[in-house]
Amino acid sequence: MFPVLGAPMQSICTVCPWKCVLEEGKLGRCKARINNNGNVQVANPNFISTAILGPIEQKGIYHFHPGANILSVGGVGCNLFCGFCQNFSISQVAKTHGETMAPKDLVSLAVGKKAEGIAFTYNEPLINYEYVMDVFDLARRSDLITVLKTAGLVDQHIFAEVCRLTDCVNIDLKGDYQVYREICHVDPSWMDIVLLNIGTASLLTHTEISIPVITNYEDNAREAANLLYDVGIFPLHLLRFIPDFKMKKFAPTSMKVLEILQNYLLEQYHYVYIDFAEMTNETRCLSCKELILKREGAKLSYNNLKVDLCPRCGKKQDIKIKVK
Ligand code: SF4
Repeated sequence: MFPVLGAPMQSICTVCPWKCVLEEGKLGRCKARINNNGNVQVANPNFISTAILGPIEQKGIYHFHPGANILSVGGVGCNLFCGFCQNFSISQVAKTHGETMAPKDLVSLAVGKKAEGIAFTYNEPLINYEYVMDVFDLARRSDLITVLKTAGLVDQHIFAEVCRLTDCVNIDLKGDYQVYREICHVDPSWMDIVLLNIGTASLLTHTEISIPVITNYEDNAREAANLLYDVGIFPLHLLRFIPDFKMKKFAPTSMKVLEILQNYLLEQYHYVYIDFAEMTNETRCLSCKELILKREGAKLSYNNLKVDLCPRCGKKQDIKIKVK
């Protein structure tokens, strides 16, 4: 955070590429950070809007500790403004119902609920990266898995620091340049920052990628996956668009379109899933095709994994089990 020269009451936030110039007491575009006496900081420290127990698969993580029951936590605010956001009631506001919870109390809550991990999700966690890091540091000391669901549109150094405390991350690649401009209302060139951060994540932590397949923008999802291929090969999750927020008049993505895209991408990527409540998703051994894992919606319904090996041919699988 930098004070603006010649304008002592203004400060610049450098957490994300918006680089908001903030007058004293003003919120940034994300509605989560504020200029407080020349320091840009989180407006509502330790604020939690949501805390829900559920399977790690709900976060778009299929290849890390399958079936783990984790506590999913949200706050408020976001630095993107996606027209299809299903969490707009918390992502596009500065305040909502919730409670203040110090990092140690949140970790105690997760332990008390017998969760195996903590996920930051629902709104963009990294606009409140200080809290995420404090919680993840304590969570790891309590043997909890640390999970991040993010759009990855933040400063590269902050992103790398958070990844060092993160066991697995799912990054939402919203689409191609056109989708970032028309649907998410950010500078399209910022997609390059997201791709750069995906590359960083892949070096520091287990990484999976989600791509929404938006009605009328289906070809853009294909283009996004093609651009991602230059960064690396990840487990991919195609998200079915469901009308919401500012895109209520659009139809849900056709299942046929999703299946065609899935088959196309399976020529490049090893694992391409369609994340949707009514879908069954299988993971098979790439060598002998033995069924390894199966999920009904986000619920793990079959687990044939022997540590991280195929039970039939013994080949090591691209699935990580946290060793405590
Ligand atoms: S994190 Fe928020 S306040 Fe900071 S630059 Fe981004 S949008 Fe602006």
